[in-house]
Amino acid sequence: MQRPGKIVCVGRNYRAHAKEMGNDVPAEPLLFLKPPSSVIGGGEAIMLPADAGRVDFEGEIGVVVGAILRRATEEEASRAIRGIVAANDVSARDWQKKDGQWARAKGSDTFLPLGLEAPVPRDHSTLEVVTRHNGVERQRASASEMVFPIPFLLSYVSRYITLEPGDVLLTGTPAGVAQLAPGDTVEVEVVGLSRVSNPVMAGG
Ligand code: ZN
Repeated sequence: MQRPGKIVCVGRNYRAHAKEMGNDVPAEPLLFLKPPSSVIGGGEAIMLPADAGRVDFEGEIGVVVGAILRRATEEEASRAIRGIVAANDVSARDWQKKDGQWARAKGSDTFLPLGLEAPVPRDHSTLEVVTRHNGVERQRASASEMVFPIPFLLSYVSRYITLEPGDVLLTGTPAGVAQLAPGDTVEVEVVGLSRVSNPVMAGG
């Protein structure tokens, strides 16, 4: 796919994942950004920085925006969804804890594998995300389990940040995240729509 102009992400949007990380579910969506330079495609290697410590996969449903959204209602946001992509929000946990903000923890090069864009189904609450780590299923959840549903998230983001065509929203990861090691393969699939599989290598 074409590199998105920006990638807006949501943390702790599934109860079971917030719990496994020892966090409460936030009262409002917890937003952060990943830079376009972190994007890689299927087959490209996720590079683990030598000094990063623990780096996890996070399988997520990615939503591609097809129109300008500024202070949009949920209905306007819903209509503006152009497509769906499988996304892996690769996350360096030690940096996440240590840095106080998540620029390198979430934004390092190769930390955002994205699959090919698929047309959005009529009912996006039925979307399902699955993550396989070395061929073993580790995550499976439906969009209906999200704390904040997709139209609400887009509307909420657009109150503060104008969304533009091609921008991507990552909607949070369900329970089951785990650490990546060199030699691993990790695959995220939005069932029946988009899939991205990547090898993992030691970086510099
Ligand atoms: Zn995430």
